[in-house]
Amino acid sequence: MTDDSSCELSSVITGTNLQRKVLKRLDVVTLFPAMFEGPMSESLLGRARQRGIIEIRIHNLRDWSADDRRHTVDDRSYGGGPGMVIQAEPICRALKAVRAEGVKRLGRSAKPYVIYLSPQGRVLRQSQAKSLAKRPWLVLLCGHYEGIDQRAMDWVDEEISIGDYVLTGGELPAMVLADTVVRLVPGVVKEPESLEEESFQDGRLDFPHYTRPAVWRGRKVPAVLLSGDHASIRKWRLSQAAKATREKRPDLLKDRPARRQR
Ligand code: SAM
Repeated sequence: MTDDSSCELSSVITGTNLQRKVLKRLDVVTLFPAMFEGPMSESLLGRARQRGIIEIRIHNLRDWSADDRRHTVDDRSYGGGPGMVIQAEPICRALKAVRAEGVKRLGRSAKPYVIYLSPQGRVLRQSQAKSLAKRPWLVLLCGHYEGIDQRAMDWVDEEISIGDYVLTGGELPAMVLADTVVRLVPGVVKEPESLEEESFQDGRLDFPHYTRPAVWRGRKVPAVLLSGDHASIRKWRLSQAAKATREKRPDLLKDRPARRQR
């Protein structure tokens, strides 16, 4: 073990006390914790936390600054050029502390899966969100400025992007990822069968939805939806989902695995 290995995060072995493969804890390491206040306490995420389905913790990276007085965590980029870079040391300290706190709750064998939100990562897709919802513990690391010191990547398991564009920081991507993943955790969405029908779940888009009144400003709801004939409704919805996919996202049809009967 070298001196650097004191920052080792992922040395624990996945144990038996986390047998249930479902997300239980999500930590976020950020320079802007206040940005998470609304999104993490309102709506679906807020309810999931209140009901104890998931524990979400937001950590301020500045708490692990090497500079106790000014709490700086960034410095200039070696080689010159504009912009600052987040230093490796605060990241390493933060991840170590988060892990130490998390294992107290989840057990010694718990192993966090560390995701760095980055425009250079694999673009998030629904299929990946499903796999992430089966990991008991996620840690989301938000970058800022020019990003993080490359050496901090040793403590990152995966880089994930939310799309081919550049945002100011990893906070909005972390919120997007958290929302996408947490809603797939069993018990979070009240009617889980609604998830099965959603866009991207089965390599196609959702079908159109209508609600009351049956006639609105002269426009009628498709008659089949009022017929009470469940088989016909199902058939209509499948055909509408296929039509929407062909028209709006034909690329999904190319990527779609062998069709399964729904
Ligand atoms: N210099 C970096 C580059 O060009 O790859 C961009 C840095 S960006 C201004 C600052 C931070 O925002 C990144 O470290 C990352 O955490 C986050 N970020 C920006 N765009 C993102 C995206 N599309 N997906 C996920 N995170 C993103």
